[in-house]
Amino acid sequence: MHIGVIGCGMVGLTTALELQKEFRNAQISIVADKFNEDTCSYVAAGLFRPSTSFTGPTKDITYKWIQDSYEYWDNIRRSSEASKAGVCQLSGYIFSKVNPSIVRNEFLEKVLPIYRQADERELRLCQGDWKYGSFFTTILTESKMFLPYAADKFIQQNGKIHSQNIESFSKLQGKFDIIVNCTGLGAQNLCEDQQLVPIRGQIIKVKAPWIKMAFYGENDTYIIPGFEGVILGGCRQYESYKTEICQYDKMSIQERCYNMLPSLKKSQFIRDACGLRPHKSIVRVEPEFYDTKTNGKLKIVHNYGHGGYGICTSPGTAKYSVELVKDLHSSSNLSKL
Ligand SMILES: Cc1cc2nc3c(=O)[nH]c(=O)nc-3n(C[C@H](O)[C@H](O)[C@H](O)COP(=O)(O)OP(=O)(O)OC[C@H]3O[C@@H](n4cnc5c(N)ncnc54)[C@H](O)[C@@H]3O)c2cc1C
Repeated sequence: MHIGVIGCGMVGLTTALELQKEFRNAQISIVADKFNEDTCSYVAAGLFRPSTSFTGPTKDITYKWIQDSYEYWDNIRRSSEASKAGVCQLSGYIFSKVNPSIVRNEFLEKVLPIYRQADERELRLCQGDWKYGSFFTTILTESKMFLPYAADKFIQQNGKIHSQNIESFSKLQGKFDIIVNCTGLGAQNLCEDQQLVPIRGQIIKVKAPWIKMAFYGENDTYIIPGFEGVILGGCRQYESYKTEICQYDKMSIQERCYNMLPSLKKSQFIRDACGLRPHKSIVRVEPEFYDTKTNGKLKIVHNYGHGGYGICTSPGTAKYSVELVKDLHSSSNLSKL
């Protein structure tokens, strides 16, 4: 059997690695037109903090995706691979002036080792008149390190990676027995999916080695230390396709982060970056018998639309996709799906 994974961002790579675990005798190939720094995945802070808006087809499935994902990252964190893979433990605070529910998260309270209410003294750790807060201990995955680490591992396990733009699924007819579609925002065209939209984000990476804790404030403001530096963010611009750095966004990010932690004014600039988060209100992980119109049907499992949470939740949806690939492999007609 030959399985083709389309997409080499975080979702494509974690899915390809899971497929290798399950289908040991199959040939598995990744096909993508962008890699590493050209993907949305590269821009992300990589914090494991899926928000309450992250949604799968049912509450139980969403919870399973989050739980499986945490377990995946935590296993790497404990292993000798952690430093190479760019995976570490990180603690932080989320603060709000508006509403106590903003700092609560039902799933994370169950999955993370620590997720608790912040006390009065902790509310004063950052500048701002914070009324509500939570402290949590979670995991960070630095994509800049994990993407090449995962690609190397995939190749060492006999996977093949090809650079190619796929104009339509029909063009893949006869090449693969099953296709797994991990194209992020690229699925907008490939699947004619109007409900998949970009949520633009912009960040500044700085050197500030004295920052050892993550902080989330209001208006998409966050300070997240990682392996290479500290990420200052951010913004969420719905249906914006702008891929250039916006100087106004940059000034706004600096002002909001410096207000929270004035010591950041002394940080050293590394780079600006922006990315388009592939957002779908319900992340699409489902099988399809795709009608090519001319050459019969293709077996496809879709795995896209993770929005602002695709780094941390990709292992969970990858595992779920592999189950769907197994079902699809053993089924020969639509009625079995
Ligand atoms: C500023 C910012 C901060 C973020 N912070 C976090 C965070 O802290 N935690 C978190 O979990 N998430 C975060 N995210 C979200 C995360 O980056 C995305 O959810 C994730 O990268 C989506 O991964 P993906 O693999 O689906 O898409 P991508 O990384 O965009 O990869 C898509 C792949 O598909 C390929 N492709 C697409 N179309 C085609 C085609 N037609 N032919 C061939 N190849 C194709 C591309 O070449 C690419 O290889 C953040 C995002 C941004 C922008």
